[in-house]
Amino acid sequence: MNRPSLLSLDDALPQLLAQAHTLPETQWVSTFDADGRVLAQDVVAGLQVPPHDNSSMDGYALRALDCVQAGAVLRVTQRIPAGTHGTQLNSGEAARIFTGAPIPPGADAVVMQEDCEVLEGGQIKVNMAVPTAQWIRRSGEDVTRGATVLSRGTRLTPAELGLAASIGLAQLQVSVRPRVALFSTGDELVMPGDVAPEAMPAGAIYNSNRFFLRAMLKRLGCEVSDLGIVPDKREATIAVLRDAAMHHDLILTSGGVSVGEEDHIKPAVQSLGELSLWQLSIKPGKPFAYGKVNREGGVCHFMGLPGNPVSSFVTFLLLVRPFLLAMQGVTQTEVKRTQMTAHFDWPRADKRREFLRVKRNAAGGLDVFPNQSSGVLTSAVWGDGVVDNPSGQTIARGDSVRFISFEEWLA
Ligand code: AMP
Ligand code: MG
Repeated sequence: MNRPSLLSLDDALPQLLAQAHTLPETQWVSTFDADGRVLAQDVVAGLQVPPHDNSSMDGYALRALDCVQAGAVLRVTQRIPAGTHGTQLNSGEAARIFTGAPIPPGADAVVMQEDCEVLEGGQIKVNMAVPTAQWIRRSGEDVTRGATVLSRGTRLTPAELGLAASIGLAQLQVSVRPRVALFSTGDELVMPGDVAPEAMPAGAIYNSNRFFLRAMLKRLGCEVSDLGIVPDKREATIAVLRDAAMHHDLILTSGGVSVGEEDHIKPAVQSLGELSLWQLSIKPGKPFAYGKVNREGGVCHFMGLPGNPVSSFVTFLLLVRPFLLAMQGVTQTEVKRTQMTAHFDWPRADKRREFLRVKRNAAGGLDVFPNQSSGVLTSAVWGDGVVDNPSGQTIARGDSVRFISFEEWLA
């Protein structure tokens, strides 16, 4: 058999994303519950925020022309706490006003209470010259009526929920959650809790991938069916795939996608559909597979991740993450890379594009984890991101490198 040449990530990702059609269904959810969901329609403001010119200080509303010089004495004729509104203010008058309360008609500035002296007989002395518009927040300075404040395809974060609420929206229309079936393959796998560490049989290892994959899927807004561990048997694999395809948008697996004869995933997918992409020129994560499993009236996407934990972790972030975001209608699926300075040497260039686990240090540079083996999950815990290092590239201390932060990538 001819060994297929490795596909570059830059070639693979667009091919993959071309398959990631946005799920057609949408749903309305409470704005309270919309964190992490993806907007399915533009959000247009039906009012101004703030709705009225209002005071940004506790103090006195007045006419600036009355206070061209420090020392003006004004009569306090009204009191406007937040939640109420005042009446016409005339020359020589001041209104006691509190933060957020509307500026009364006739007033054009606010003076802080700290800049005033309260005199006998309901008067104040203003100890400063007051410029027009001082301490006034203008109506619409945050949001203008009719403006699109949030666009379709935006993944909502707490700040966006607050903004939606500020224009009166208790419900938001979002994309449905992708339904993802997850299973691990490998006869060596044992679940934590099933067998105590001291009783582990020879050759057995704990299933670690299941834990981080499930957590990452949930963070991406997916509804996860965890199908556990599937034995390294062709028929068993086919049966699970066929079943899972019926009610899911994506089947995600780990392990069993290499080229050993115990790797049954790829032939099983081929027997039920097609496999269109595999073997990427990245490190870790070479044995990645994409395909489709047929079901009555349609297809279910399939993605097979390598079994080695770090490979699984990195390929999820590089390939599965943008795919699942695109399925929810997110337009910007690429994670940000920032230029940072390497505080390490990486003298061995690799033919594959490498994703090195690194950590930001106090000096503003990056340190590298010494063991970059794809089985060493400690590297991902120690690190706070990766360096995206082009193929064939060495790194010398002081070089500028492309850094991806886990904080952002796992969000
Ligand atoms: P595979 O891709 O199935 O050839 O597995 C590659 C390596 O990853 C082997 O050493 C497996 O034991 C290990 N591995 C596979 N699946 C898991 C898993 N779910 N958790 C931890 N290690 C795994
Ligand atoms: Mg295996």
